[in-house]
Amino acid sequence: MNPIEPNPDLKKYVKNAIHADCSLCWTCSSCDFECPVNRATGRLWPQKILRMTNLGLIEELIQMPEIWYCQTCRRCSQICPNGVQPDKVISFARAEALRLGVVSRQQVDQYYQLFAAFQRVRWQAAAICQHGDLQPISERQWSQWMDKAVGESQQPIQSTDLFQGNAAFKRTMAQTDGSLCFTCGECSSVCPITGDRAVFDPRAIVRTAVLGLTQELLSSPSIWLCLECRRCTEGCSQTVKVHQLIKELQQLAIESNYIAADMQWRLAKADKIIYPPLLDAIDALFGFQPTKGQKRPSLQADKSLTAKLLQNGRAHAMTNVH
Ligand code: SF4
Ligand code: SF4
Ligand code: SF4
Repeated sequence: MNPIEPNPDLKKYVKNAIHADCSLCWTCSSCDFECPVNRATGRLWPQKILRMTNLGLIEELIQMPEIWYCQTCRRCSQICPNGVQPDKVISFARAEALRLGVVSRQQVDQYYQLFAAFQRVRWQAAAICQHGDLQPISERQWSQWMDKAVGESQQPIQSTDLFQGNAAFKRTMAQTDGSLCFTCGECSSVCPITGDRAVFDPRAIVRTAVLGLTQELLSSPSIWLCLECRRCTEGCSQTVKVHQLIKELQQLAIESNYIAADMQWRLAKADKIIYPPLLDAIDALFGFQPTKGQKRPSLQADKSLTAKLLQNGRAHAMTNVH
């Protein structure tokens, strides 16, 4: 087996492209422990991705399935004490994998469809966790949830149980500027898990809060799907702190006895059931593991990729792939 040859040129290229210094990583592993996908599956280690970047192993990185396991929640970057941004490295690696033909546009499009359908599985799991533990499910059940529309009522809202008299809710709306929302939908556009509105839509959540519809909000599994990435809040021109509002709604749901206090713990347990099939489906989609149960072959440095990576020579726009 050949020893690894660090490539400082590639390391520099990544640093310039993502405007973040990966060499500040001091391998504390905070990102590994914070990553929800890693906690659920043990198959996505952000620190490993940073280590590879620091060694300039970019050819290997862009061929790794892990970069597609990431759900772009940004929690690794939020927890990092040194301001290193693993999620940006992953977005960069995805964009390069697409640009250099390691994966095709068609595969990437299918990947986003898969990820969007997976939010239905998360919704079903959250709905069960509202009342108890999710028990192990069959592959068939998982696939059915992927395909099945979620069961929100399409009836006009009848509720007269308004938040207006609820002091805690009033405080939340004031602290998060919730009532300033003018429903432009920017939060929904930037949210990585919005696709199917019945499953999750931050604009609809804010609007429902502005209308003061207690029962609809606090009993909905949707409020438990937020990844806390904060893109909605960063994108809102009305300064609505959307991610914070959703977090406060979760707290209110517990305090108002809509949900048991251990909801987050039950969701974490459910993630261990629903995420592994997602990662297997990603492997199958990209051909990372064509035969189930077989060990993945070790990655080889592809020097033709190195040349193409460096050829670019400047940071390219990381649009279309997040
Ligand atoms: S962005 Fe989220 S899913 Fe991706 S590596 Fe970071 S913590 Fe894990
Ligand atoms: S971006 Fe802000 S103003 Fe626009 S819909 Fe979302 S919360 Fe409302
Ligand atoms: S923090 Fe905002 S953008 Fe991120 S998942 Fe939650 S609602 Fe969507």
